[in-house]
Parts: sequence; structure tokens; C-alpha cells
Amino acid sequence: MSTFKAIRIDKDDNGYRAGLTDFDEKDLMEGDVTVVVSHSCVNYKDGLAITGKSPVVRRFPMIPGIDFAGVVSASSNPNFKEGDKVILNGWGVGETHMGGYAQKARVKGDWLTPLPAGLSPAEAMAIGTAGYTAMLCVLALEKHGMTPDRGPALVTGAAGGVGSVAIALLAKLGWHVIASTGRASEEVYLRGLGASEIIDRGELSAPGRPLGKERWAAAVDSVGSVTLANVLAQTKYAGAVAACGLAQGMDLPATVAPFILRGVSLLGVDSVMAPQALRHEAWGRLASDLDRAKLAAMTSTVKLADTPQVAAEILAGRTRGRVVVEIG
Ligand code: NDP
Repeated sequence: MSTFKAIRIDKDDNGYRAGLTDFDEKDLMEGDVTVVVSHSCVNYKDGLAITGKSPVVRRFPMIPGIDFAGVVSASSNPNFKEGDKVILNGWGVGETHMGGYAQKARVKGDWLTPLPAGLSPAEAMAIGTAGYTAMLCVLALEKHGMTPDRGPALVTGAAGGVGSVAIALLAKLGWHVIASTGRASEEVYLRGLGASEIIDRGELSAPGRPLGKERWAAAVDSVGSVTLANVLAQTKYAGAVAACGLAQGMDLPATVAPFILRGVSLLGVDSVMAPQALRHEAWGRLASDLDRAKLAAMTSTVKLADTPQVAAEILAGRTRGRVVVEIG
């Protein structure tokens, strides 16, 4: 028997629970590449999975962790060999397939991305799904033709993972960034990442008018619900909003007014099933456009055993920026 340390989620007559355990390698699921995992990270979805607050996990037992970075230890996939440094984001890992909160993972090689040149495994996980999704949002805005000369860019959920990376990226690309946060105490942090203005998220979180004053040309929204409706209503003529999250809620109580009277576009962003070509583009841009000092400033590091506690904290909106998990 060969075992390794992992966080394991169980759901049975004794309830829903997650904790550190010795996991038997033979209980890993099918895959053509085995990876010795060095780092993972905590995303909002990991919080949902570990606490069971939303039915993210579809199979039990489950090892959570939607991201990992590590080194290939065995492979029958022609694209990967022993010793290759790789990362994984999404594809249902940590939801339906054993995930990254473990010393070992066995996955389909098709899901793996080579560790981007210039990034350490720890930096890649400091970015993680949240940061890579922020990049997907910026790419969506760019592909829509949005440029900084059109006006400011709003980032909601600013002090969270997606928000922090989005601010750093947009500022580096020359945008005047407006950060919407519920944590006024994080003003210095947000300005350090590149935000030029800070607004209270309360301005956007209560039901508003179908159309408001035009305040921003572009937005990255990780909050959804009433906030997204208000973001759309206050977007400038022919502006665009990249929507990727639901921190306030899954609903969208909006009208069509911004679309039909101002030509505003709502751009949907999914990271989980994004095709490899788009992933490579996003990771290439992250390697070149994300300031490493800002990445370090938004990152804290925890041990594998701490993840259940951090999971509860991220859902409560108490984590700041990104949290890396050192697997050890
Ligand atoms: P975080 O918890 O790190 O950030 C979310 C932020 O949203 C919080 O820090 C807080 O920012 C703000 N927030 C939290 N609750 C509320 C609320 N009730 N009303 C308004 N704002 C709120 O999570 P992540 O950055 O990891 O993820 C953000 C969202 O994006 C999640 O919904 C996640 O599921 C989604 N996501 C989607 C992906 C995709 O593929 N589409 C990929 C990655 C993430 P502040 O304190 O500054 O107000």
C-alpha cells in the first residue's frame, strides 16, 4: 500500500466533512499522467467544495483543489514525460475528479498545461484559477476592442482573488482602474495594486435604475446579481463588461436597457472548460503582464492542513487576494 497526505471530503450518514488524511494511491482515479504536487491554492469554488455550501462536489470521497502545480512522476501520455513541470486549472478536478489538495494527483494529460516559462510553481498557484480567470476577462475585453482610451475600467470584488489580479493587470495595461470593495480598510492595498479610485460596493449592491450615469467603459465583475445589473446600467455607450463570478449571487435582475439603448456588451467568461489554446494565451500573457512584486503583495501561504479553515474564510469574504497552499 502506498499512501500520501490529502484533504478528503466525505458525505454519508455522518454528514459532510473534510479533513487531512492518508490517502491510498490505488484510490486515485483514472488518468494517464501522475504528478507529484508541490503547490495548490484556495479559490472561492474550493471554499464551496470543502464546506459543502454549494453542491460543487459530485462524487465521494473527493480530494478537493481545482488547481495544482507539480512535477510529472509517471506518464503514458506522449506529450508529457517524467520530470516535466506542469500546472492544472479546472476541468472538473476537485469536483468530479480527485484534485490538488494532495501530494499526488493522477489526471488526463490533456488537462495539463506546461508550467509557463518565467513562473515558479508557487507563483503559478498564486495566480491559480482566480488569476487566470482575471486574465481571461481582460482578454475578452481586448478581443471586444476595448482600450484604455475609452474610459475607466471597473473591478468588482476588488480585494478578492479575481479582483486583485484584474486590478494589477488592467493598471499595467494602462487602464484607469476603479476598484469596488466592501473593505474600505483595504484602500492602501488596492492602490498598491494599481487602483486609481476606490468605491464602496454598497453603491452597486442594492437594486438601482435600469440606466444610470455613464461611469466606466469596461468592467471585470466577479460578483454577479444586483451588482452586475448596476455595473451594466452604469457602463458607457458601446462599453463591455466581462462577467465571471457570483460572490453576491447567481441571479441577474437586470433590464435590457443597457444593451438596446447604449450598445453595452456582456461578455461571459468560463475558465473550467476553456480550450487549451486560450489557456496558453492567457498564461503567456500572465507571465509577461503580471507584475511579480504585485503578485507577491496579494499572496499569502498556508499549509495543506489549514485549507478547511481557509475555505470557510474565503466564503465569508475574509481572505485578501490569493492564498497559496504549500503541499509539502
Ligand atoms: P474571493 O472570495 O477571493 O473574492 C470575492 C470577492 O467578492 C470578495 O473578496 C469580496 O470583495 C466580494 N464579495 C464577497 N461577497 C460579496 C457580496 N455578498 N456582495 C458583493 N461583493 C462580495 O473569490 P475569487 O476571487 O476566487 O472568486 C470570485 C468569484 O468568481 C466567485 O464567485 C467564483 O466562483 C468566480 N469564479 C469564476 C470562474 C469562472 O470560470 N467563471 C473562475 C474563478 C472564479 P471585497 O471584499 O473587495 O468587496
